[in-house]
Amino acid sequence: MSVAEERLERLHELARDAASDGDDDLARRYVRRARRLAERNRLPLPRRFKRFTCDRCDAYLIPGRNARVRTRNGHLVITCDCGEHARYPYDG
Ligand SMILES: [Zn+2]
Repeated sequence: MSVAEERLERLHELARDAASDGDDDLARRYVRRARRLAERNRLPLPRRFKRFTCDRCDAYLIPGRNARVRTRNGHLVITCDCGEHARYPYDG
C-alpha cells in the first residue's frame, strides 16, 4: 500500500468517525480532502467511501443518522438529508 493509499484510508476513517460523532462539517472536510487526494494521485476511491458520501454536499452518510437506505428492485437507494439520492446495484 502506498503512502497516498494509506492517507486515503485514514481520511476515510476520520470522516466516518466525525460523522458518527455528529460532526458533519468536520466529516465533509475529510471527505473533500480524500477526494482531492484520490484525484491527485489517480487512486480509486474505496467502494464504501463512494457509497457513503454524498455527491452533492460531500456529507459522510451514516444510515439512520443523516441518511436513509432502502432496497428496491435489487437496488440500494441511499438518500442524504440534503435530498440527493444515489442508486447502486445490491450486491451485499
Ligand atoms: Zn447530501
